[in-house]
Amino acid sequence: MSYTGKKEKSLVIIKPDGIQRSLIGEVIKRFESIGLKLIALKMIVPTPEQVEQHYTLDSNWRKVTGEKTIKGYKDKGLTPPTENPFEITDKLLINLKKYLSCGPVVAMVWEGAHAVKIIRKLVGGTEPLTSDVGSIRGDYVLDSYEMSDVDDRAIRNLIHASGSVPEAEMEIKHWFAPEELISYRLVQEEILYDVNLDGILE
Ligand code: GDP
Ligand code: MG
Repeated sequence: MSYTGKKEKSLVIIKPDGIQRSLIGEVIKRFESIGLKLIALKMIVPTPEQVEQHYTLDSNWRKVTGEKTIKGYKDKGLTPPTENPFEITDKLLINLKKYLSCGPVVAMVWEGAHAVKIIRKLVGGTEPLTSDVGSIRGDYVLDSYEMSDVDDRAIRNLIHASGSVPEAEMEIKHWFAPEELISYRLVQEEILYDVNLDGILE
C-alpha cells in the first residue's frame, strides 16, 4: 500500500500584472521549493473568449461567485450594486476578460501530493489586502476590492490557482493539450515520497 494522491495536479496562471512585476521567478521558486514538480509551462496572451470559458468551466461559478461577492459587500456594511448574483458576475467577467487578455501570462501545471491545497496556501486569499503575510499575494501586491471597485477593474492579485481537484482537471484541459504535460522522474521525489528512506547510505 502506498499513498495514491502523489500525482495530484493544479493549474497556475501568473497573470499579466505578475509578469509586469517581474515575479515569474519568485512564483516558480516557491512552488519548486516546497517540492512540487513542474510538468507543463507556456507563455501566452489569452483571448477574452479563453478567459470567459476559463471562469465558466464550472457551471456554478456565476452563481457562487456572485453570491460570495454580495456577501462580501454586506459583511463590510456596504450595499451591493445589485442583489442578483448573475449581474454581479457578468460585470466581474467583463473586467476579468480585460485584465487577463491585456498581455502575456505564464500558464503552468504543477504536480505532487496535495498540489491544489498546497498551492492555494502559498498563493493566499483572493483579496491581497487581506491575504496572509508570507503568501504570494500577501507579500507582493497591495490591491483591494475597495480600490478595484472604485476604478471599475478586476482585482490585481498576480496569480490564478485551481480551487479544487475537479476544477484543476477542467482547467488543465482548457489551457493545455494532453501532449503538453510531461511525465518524468524528479530525483527529489525519492526523498519526499519514499516510504522507508532506505536508499541513501552506500
Ligand atoms: P480565486 O480563486 O482566489 O481567484 O477567487 P474566485 O475564484 O472566487 O474568483 C475569481 C475572480 O473573481 C477573482 O480573482 C476576482 O477577480 C473576482 N472576484 C471574486 N470575488 C470577488 C469579490 O468579492 N469582489 C470583486 N470585485 N471581485 C471578486
Ligand atoms: Mg477560483
